[in-house]
Amino acid sequence: MATAKKPATVKSTKGHATSSSHAGDAFGNHSEAPNVGKENPFDSMLARFDLAAQKLQLNPDIYQVLRVPDRELTVSVPVRMDTGRIQVFTGYRVQHNIARGPYKGGIRYAPDVTLDEVRALAAWMTWKCAVVNVPFGGAKGGVICDPSTMSMGELEALTRRYVWAIADIIGPDRDVPAPDMNTNEQTMAWVMDTYSMQKGHIVMGVVTGKPVGLGGSEGRRTATGFGVEFVTRAALNKWKLPAPTKATVAVQGSGNVGGVAAERFHNLGYKVVALSDIHGGIYNKKGLDIPKVMSFLREHRTLEGYPQAEYVSNSQLLELPCDVLVPAAKEDQITSANADRIQAKLIVEGANGPTASNADAILEKKGIIVIPDILANAGGVTVSYFEWVQDREGYFWDEDRVNRTLERMMVSAFGDVVNYQEKYDVSTRIAAYMLGVDRTAKFVQLRGIYP
Ligand code: GLU
Repeated sequence: MATAKKPATVKSTKGHATSSSHAGDAFGNHSEAPNVGKENPFDSMLARFDLAAQKLQLNPDIYQVLRVPDRELTVSVPVRMDTGRIQVFTGYRVQHNIARGPYKGGIRYAPDVTLDEVRALAAWMTWKCAVVNVPFGGAKGGVICDPSTMSMGELEALTRRYVWAIADIIGPDRDVPAPDMNTNEQTMAWVMDTYSMQKGHIVMGVVTGKPVGLGGSEGRRTATGFGVEFVTRAALNKWKLPAPTKATVAVQGSGNVGGVAAERFHNLGYKVVALSDIHGGIYNKKGLDIPKVMSFLREHRTLEGYPQAEYVSNSQLLELPCDVLVPAAKEDQITSANADRIQAKLIVEGANGPTASNADAILEKKGIIVIPDILANAGGVTVSYFEWVQDREGYFWDEDRVNRTLERMMVSAFGDVVNYQEKYDVSTRIAAYMLGVDRTAKFVQLRGIYP
């Protein structure tokens, strides 16, 4: 097989190379009809929530409470840029539901963040925390910015001013942020420091995903990727699909979720046949040497040119022949426009919302099993819970304890979802929503409405 090479490339204005044969955005979406199948993420969430509520015959009063976020805060974030000029960014924090415990959820930095996206992500956190049974509600934050064009100093100033702006509504017993797209351990260290400086004492438990040694947990960085593999293994065994050591896997994304999952799949003997980054991906049906691919990516900052593989666009990757497809990049990748062409037998959603609700029926009809985001990527928030517990106790676990406890909780959540699926004869996605909504509804019911 030839060196991974695109037929011809054009540079988009953002500098992302796109294939001319699939001219479109950086994810290879066809330019002829860029919005076909695309869905507002909040509508996507509500479509599944409504179905789950119906199947559960959810009390109509509780339905009304759960359908809307508790609180939405929009803030202006002025930052003095390196040029000396001030730029004003817009930030959000949406708190969806607090019935089960403090709000919990990441903060993302991206140029295309919208309030509806943050709303959807906040609600997904509520269901996700309930599915893995950690005592948190759901929230999400976002700032509209393009971190790839900002210096470290600008990012630090942005983070600190955003945290100041939302400080009244966060805290270890109120709302606990964490990393998400384009934020990392360093960002969380700034969050912790800014909040602590305002309080006048160190408050470790205000945020999770911090560096180890600064109140962070061992195993947090790898938690989401490991969790993806735990539930993949459980699903392959449950539904008599190929055994892990026989299964072929295609992973979209090579960041904190996709990259870590791909390495774990590889180390455990699965055959990873495809992997991508934001620009595009590589495919070799005989399997890729993932540690080599990852070091190539670190060195070249692109997968193009990787030897012994074919270069594919991100949308082509989704349609490759494989047993397991792991979309671990961003929302709205599998839609009514391409669902029919998916060849995988099992989809494990490493990203939040990679499948639009308009694709659900198509995938179901094709007999493709989906391990939905609110179960598949819950490893991250599960270890965030361990981090929060460790910060409060001031006693830190070793990595082995973290990973063993994570595996036990993920496998147990998988079993709980399967029970709902079998009991109500619904898809695995709707079963996961039903479990999340049911557990949350029980808390709302017990607590009642104040005053
Ligand atoms: N951002 C991650 C998620 O979407 C982690 C959230 C957390 O740890 O609070 O699940």
